[in-house]
Amino acid sequence: MPKKKTKYIFITGGVVSSLGKGIVAASLGVLLKNQGYKVTIQKFDPYLNLDPGTMSPFQHGEVFVTEDGCETDLDLGHYERFIDQNLSRVNNVTSGMIYWDVLTKERRGDYLGHTVQIIPHVTNEIKDRITKVLDQDHFDVVITEIGGTVGDIESLPFLEAIRQFQYIHRDDCAHLHLTLVPFLKTSGEFKTKPTQHSVKELREIGIHADVIVCRSEAPITLEVRHKIALFCDVAPEAVVACVDAPSIYDVPLMMEAEKLDQTVCKKLGLTHRPNQMEEWRSYVEMIHKKDSPEVKIAIVGKYTSLSDSYLSVVEAIHHASAANQCHAKILWVEAEEVERHGAKHFLEYADGIVVPGGFGDRGIEGKILASKYAREHKIPYFGLCLGMHVAVIDFARHVAGLEAAHSSEFNDGTPYPVIDFLPDQRTLSQKGGTMRLGGYPCKVKKDTLLFAAYNTTKIQERHRHRYEFNNEFKQLLEANGLVFSGLSPEGTLVEVVELTDHPWFLACQFHPEFKSRPYRAHPLFRDFIKASLKA
Ligand code: GLN
Repeated sequence: MPKKKTKYIFITGGVVSSLGKGIVAASLGVLLKNQGYKVTIQKFDPYLNLDPGTMSPFQHGEVFVTEDGCETDLDLGHYERFIDQNLSRVNNVTSGMIYWDVLTKERRGDYLGHTVQIIPHVTNEIKDRITKVLDQDHFDVVITEIGGTVGDIESLPFLEAIRQFQYIHRDDCAHLHLTLVPFLKTSGEFKTKPTQHSVKELREIGIHADVIVCRSEAPITLEVRHKIALFCDVAPEAVVACVDAPSIYDVPLMMEAEKLDQTVCKKLGLTHRPNQMEEWRSYVEMIHKKDSPEVKIAIVGKYTSLSDSYLSVVEAIHHASAANQCHAKILWVEAEEVERHGAKHFLEYADGIVVPGGFGDRGIEGKILASKYAREHKIPYFGLCLGMHVAVIDFARHVAGLEAAHSSEFNDGTPYPVIDFLPDQRTLSQKGGTMRLGGYPCKVKKDTLLFAAYNTTKIQERHRHRYEFNNEFKQLLEANGLVFSGLSPEGTLVEVVELTDHPWFLACQFHPEFKSRPYRAHPLFRDFIKASLKA
């Protein structure tokens, strides 16, 4: 049977950034997937970095790592969690990648003496990327989110490429534009002018919005809907209200109630089938349950003022709390403050402590103190990547008597480098994309917390690091009680350490948070929350 034609949905944003295009893209993905369509979602980011791997979490939030080892935008995390599907390196495209490829072709002489220009060379490269996901598999629907806001200089080549793309695939494209409809308290009314302007700007580029999703603080009135429909030239049902939601997981249900999927299906000539949203709905009911017990989880990090920097960790904690029928309250603890005021001051009332991944030495001693406090006070501890490094350093210093132990990342003159460079990292001079990245297998030792969580001896988890446990110290630390419960298949790399005389103390070299899904909580987070609940 011939495969059905792929349909393309493009999502652009107007008026201001940070409206949640990623969540709307992911929500539409859920609704279409739960109708039985094969869906994928990709993000086109107009910035010039090749990937967000070298960008500060302060500027760009968390770097999400795919199974195939690509450092991507955090929206890919939302997509994976919502459509419950692994994505890959082709699902995140930046202007940097486009230009890199165009210039590589130019150096190779592929353009046969032509002047290399934005149109057609850059736009052709972008158009190729729109369909690249189809090289891997057939998809009924490809959703493409364009980062930034219409009107940004950087996004122009992307919008022009989409315009050209729809010229060829005329009946197979739908354009969804997300805008802000502000409410002016002084005049007591919603303002549609910013939306009108941004839709007009899109039209000038040659793209006609088929659906307008209006972000607003309060529900927009029918009158506002009709006004937007009239001035933006769309049917009133194609004006979709998207009010601030108590949780991002409410958004697919809100979009379903607004019939977003029906409108999009109609535009694309797809049959609208009933949505199978029961599992999703019961997850949302669970997270909003009023009387579920609270568990206080401290996250000790250095970007705690910006929770987006630890987005997947926070999501994984919430998924795991739902699985344990409880509700997590996150206590954000700045590691440098722990150095100043001591761990007790911040961690005394925590039911569980997480030290997430990180780079650089700011706050490192505070993180080591947090791990020590959890170990000594028998508070469940979960270390993620750098969180494993600090747990090992604390154990070496305070249990095994190696007082000056450290990671060579923070002190390359330490006599006891318990954490050291991975073998292939020492000689690297490039920063971008050179870490140990993506999914790697791990062998699980029986009768451990690790085995209890996964109930299997072979697992695969995602990595993003340059440093690892230094095997020279393995014997000594083992003799002092540290359990090495997870190793690489050849046994050369330590992937997980844990303690026995403790309610739950486990630290891993990988990032389990990237694989947690709303109603399939990650087994380690699930057990960590379970132990914290008992604490
Ligand atoms: N900075 C450490 C390393 O490079 C830890 C990285 C992380 O936590 N992701 O190994």
